[in-house]
Amino acid sequence: MRSRHRQVLLGVIGAGIAGAIVLLVFVRGRQAPAPPSDFGAVLLELAAARGADPERIAADEPIRKVGGVFVRSWQIAVPNRSAMAALADDIAAAAAAHGATASSPAPASADTARVRVDRGAEAFDVLLVIARPVRVAAAAPTATPTPRAAPTATPRARPAPGARGRLAILLDDAGQSVDSLAAAAGLPPEVGVAVLPFLPHSAEIAEAMHARGHEVWLHLPMEPEGYPANDPGPGAVFVGMNDDEIRSAVHAAINNVPHAVGVNNHMGSRASADLRVMTWVMQELKARGLAFIDSRTTRETVAEEAARALGVPAARRHVFLDNNRSGAAIRAQLEEAVERCRLDKSAIAIGHLDPITVQTLAEELPGLSKRGADLVRPGALVR
Ligand SMILES: [Zn+2]
Repeated sequence: MRSRHRQVLLGVIGAGIAGAIVLLVFVRGRQAPAPPSDFGAVLLELAAARGADPERIAADEPIRKVGGVFVRSWQIAVPNRSAMAALADDIAAAAAAHGATASSPAPASADTARVRVDRGAEAFDVLLVIARPVRVAAAAPTATPTPRAAPTATPRARPAPGARGRLAILLDDAGQSVDSLAAAAGLPPEVGVAVLPFLPHSAEIAEAMHARGHEVWLHLPMEPEGYPANDPGPGAVFVGMNDDEIRSAVHAAINNVPHAVGVNNHMGSRASADLRVMTWVMQELKARGLAFIDSRTTRETVAEEAARALGVPAARRHVFLDNNRSGAAIRAQLEEAVERCRLDKSAIAIGHLDPITVQTLAEELPGLSKRGADLVRPGALVR
């Protein structure tokens, strides 16, 4: 009996290792060849190798320009403390191998670690956090325990040949600069723009994009995990706010971005998982007749649930276009979005109003229809 248990255990461990290798090869195989300067791709690989869930790598990375250096803030959720320490070491080693310097600023708490990678005009401020377990609904007790089916690899579903779908694209984090505004003239009007409130160019960008026929969305800053190291910026909604404070924060942000037809969240990995907070956000959207698109910066988000409960039209992001900011990676993510909309009839992709994203989309979108995707406004996909 004991040896049989051992055999089973060894079999399970073996299968797990084989699965991890297959997954790693798959992830590496899918990773578009990134130029050597793209340290973001390196970070994604290192994080995957230490068991970070790619869904929980904070995609929202406002680039701050501090003293002439473009600082990218990343947040990576790792399974446990030892993975956190190992990943911090991996990042430091990779930084050295790429001719960059790594340092460890003081973390916000014992359950987080920070690594700062400086590469001349560009820096990565990486916050490592321990992943909180994803809530799983308790299964109803059954009379006879059903034997668990052996886990099998689910083959990836493919769209039927000739299948078409509707694809909406929303470019967010707009408002800090007008650098991308000229290039954005090359985008079809179906591409929406989500503007952060209370930034130097918030109103200017909203007015310009509206005048060109684009949908304007409010990119509402919300409290992320790891605040204050991760700062959502001015006008944010925090979980410590009372109901009135939440509603007035949302109200003020909406008033700051003209022409907004709806809201999507900036950051918010903490706030969007809080049903009380999201319910008061939705109360205000309902009163103003606005829709909501959940950026899904956390798997634990309850934003859509709160929206549906109040009858606020809502939808969710399916694909992030530019977590890895290279043209090749953005093209690969766009293809992923095309497949997704052909498979499920519709999909929403979110990226940033950044020069590389805007330029890549301006090149790729004219050929989208031939690939089976009909570009629509984000507002067409909320319901
Ligand atoms: Zn954002």
